[in-house]
Amino acid sequence: MKPAVATRRVWAIVPAAGSGARFAASAPGSAPKQYAPLLGATVLEWSLRELLAEPRVHAVVVALAPDDAHWAGIAARLHCPKLLTTTGGANRQDTVINGLDFLAAQAAADDWILVHDAARPCLNASDLCALLDALGACAVQPTPNTSEPGGGAITDGGPSFAGAVLAAPIVDTVKREHGDHVATVDRHGLWRALTPQIFAFAQLRDALKEARLAGIAVTDEAQAIERMGFRPRLVPGSAFNVKVTRAEDLSIVARILKMTEDTRMRVGQGFDVHAFGEGDHVILGGVRIAHSKGVVAHSDGDVIIHALCDAMLGALGDGDIGQHFPDSDPRYRGADSRVFLRVVAARMQAAGLRLINADVTVLAEAPRVAAHRAAMAANLCADLGVSAQLINIKATTTERLGFIGRGEGLAASASVLLGP
Ligand code: MG
Repeated sequence: MKPAVATRRVWAIVPAAGSGARFAASAPGSAPKQYAPLLGATVLEWSLRELLAEPRVHAVVVALAPDDAHWAGIAARLHCPKLLTTTGGANRQDTVINGLDFLAAQAAADDWILVHDAARPCLNASDLCALLDALGACAVQPTPNTSEPGGGAITDGGPSFAGAVLAAPIVDTVKREHGDHVATVDRHGLWRALTPQIFAFAQLRDALKEARLAGIAVTDEAQAIERMGFRPRLVPGSAFNVKVTRAEDLSIVARILKMTEDTRMRVGQGFDVHAFGEGDHVILGGVRIAHSKGVVAHSDGDVIIHALCDAMLGALGDGDIGQHFPDSDPRYRGADSRVFLRVVAARMQAAGLRLINADVTVLAEAPRVAAHRAAMAANLCADLGVSAQLINIKATTTERLGFIGRGEGLAASASVLLGP
């Protein structure tokens, strides 16, 4: 019995051994295109980003040229245990085969192999997710049927697929030039094959080796699979998932990345209240402030940090502070709320986001917080690992109205903006 889809691991191979003849011709003397500078990193780092961030991808094998002089610096920067390297071959096909051979000792025959171009830096997370989700339809391997290309086993849900390919439908009118002749090609059913593409380990290795034996240089992995009579599933992906081929493509991909980065901004807001009770101080922003009362709270009752944590969790779509640090948990009795903030900051970083700015308002008749603002901001900045100008703390009374005006308690609200 074949293992269920969920137990089949996903390994990624990124062929990065090429020298990029077309790119080199358009930018003489430059590094190979996968190492071209792009928005503070390299093309390759952008191409790897979503693969490294996607939890379903078990490991990423980067196949490098034998004389590669650029990877070591990137590996040190990324410092990611999911990254493995091997040596590529003379062309893309051989490089992917080398990657598969490298994985042979670790990957099961049915494990998934995802192949992504090193020079395709605009892959977005939702397309990668859609591709992996599409593997549900690939649970049953089709029977090879070379007399009928695309044929295969039919499951209850219709035809089954051998793997999946991100692709974008062709929307332009397509011309074919042949000698003196120009003809219009029927674009119905035509797609641009993108990457990643994903196939079962043994099936892909057999297909690529078979193509090599037949002296055929395939231009993508799906072509090798199709040659064997299997049918890959075409998963619609963003037309912006373009490949860097010439030097001028770098400005196009930079624009695409900037545009999509803007859409990854996340806003969040939080609000917290604590009643005054017995005591001689309150804790606000991690600063102990002398007062005629204390606050009633399970933790240290720091409304600034509680509101800020809730705002950040809101922006992350990650629940609320009560869910992460329940007041029924004895571990949090009298807890220093700065610990909560550090945990939330780590969750933000794990989501690939950073604080762009935070704005906090304390609502209280007393104590006055103005004199402590700088110390509070310094604490919050230290816990979040950001510079002081990113966090603004202000305070207001409620003009003696309501529970705050009557001095029964204090509150804080916070707004945050997170971005990549
Ligand atoms: Mg609270």
